[in-house]
Amino acid sequence: MDFCCGMTMVASLQNVYAEGPVFIHDVPVLVCPTCNRWHVAPAVTLDFTMIAHNCAADGVREANFREFVGEDRVREILEAYPPDERVLLEKRYIPDQIDALLDLINLARAVGDSDWEEELKVRLKAITQPPAVPTAE
Ligand SMILES: [Zn+2]
Repeated sequence: MDFCCGMTMVASLQNVYAEGPVFIHDVPVLVCPTCNRWHVAPAVTLDFTMIAHNCAADGVREANFREFVGEDRVREILEAYPPDERVLLEKRYIPDQIDALLDLINLARAVGDSDWEEELKVRLKAITQPPAVPTAE
């Protein structure tokens, strides 16, 4: 769940609309710099659901995530998923990701698994092409 496009996802704080509707500020989310997919950080998914639920029940339309879980908890998550080369170099993908995929494609070809080979080629294409509109999982 923390991996996407062959690498660990990166944490950041985002304002997220939850059901209710409730607008929650500064929610720790995991983002894939390669394809822009994101989801609420697994460590706080439950907190996120609870806060959204409680706000909706109380008729509150807006909340700040940090105020509910505390700065320490938020910092812990950000430190657990530090920015990687892609973020630091402002690149969508790094050569290592491509190399790893090419190795796998060679392996798929060597063992004669054409379905796997096709799947890997699709993944390679997705990484090297511009990202689609960001989607939540
Ligand atoms: Zn991705």
